[in-house]
Amino acid sequence: MVDYSETSQVVTLLTRNHGLVPALAKGVRKLAVRSASAFGGPLDLLAEGDVVFLPPRSGELATLTAWGVLNHQAAMRRDLAAFYAGQISCEFTIALLSPHDPHPELFDQITAAVGRFHTAQRGLALVAYLKCALAAAGYQARLEACCVCGQAVRPGARVRFIPAMGAVACDSCPIHSPTIPVQSAVILALHRLVPPAQLPHRPPDKPADAAALLLAANLLVSQCQATTDRRLRTAGLLELFFRPREMRADI
Ligand SMILES: [Zn+2]
Repeated sequence: MVDYSETSQVVTLLTRNHGLVPALAKGVRKLAVRSASAFGGPLDLLAEGDVVFLPPRSGELATLTAWGVLNHQAAMRRDLAAFYAGQISCEFTIALLSPHDPHPELFDQITAAVGRFHTAQRGLALVAYLKCALAAAGYQARLEACCVCGQAVRPGARVRFIPAMGAVACDSCPIHSPTIPVQSAVILALHRLVPPAQLPHRPPDKPADAAALLLAANLLVSQCQATTDRRLRTAGLLELFFRPREMRADI
């Protein structure tokens, strides 16, 4: 969300039927001082609601004409770690999707993930969402076998993740892109991880530890960054999200 003038903002909406919609929200900043407007509530990060917008005449910017909040995500806003997860998910989604390209399935997955960001499944929900977003954008990570020799990833082995390819390779196979060494247990767990909406019904067999989840999230963020050739400003929040201050012995 960027301030456009004293009264307006440029916002990026993720809509279920139209995908990402960059839009000019005229008059939305007046809400702080005056609530009489077609905007039924502030346009806050990951707030869910109904929108009416005029498609762009030229360029990409639509004009937002009405907005009604259905779910302001109060639980996420009360919890700093959950809010970090929300920020990471938003930037990740905006980096990967092209405007006006509908992804209703991803809309449903981010909704499911945000609903779990303040629960004990928050780490799983975030990693599951990042994996889904990459897949929706056409960059599904190939994690079950080495991309060079085709050998299945075996438990207990060391493998390398290749961010630019979203793939893995054995330690011994030649790769000419930067790689990240990783234990195969993390790769196999990431391969099995179901989308956020399925997590309540199909949780992992073994509880995931924070260090493994942080590593998995970093792999997916590095894939997103290598694929889009842009740095995610929220990447630094992963550490804070997975290792809250009170749990970090080194500080
Ligand atoms: Zn190999």
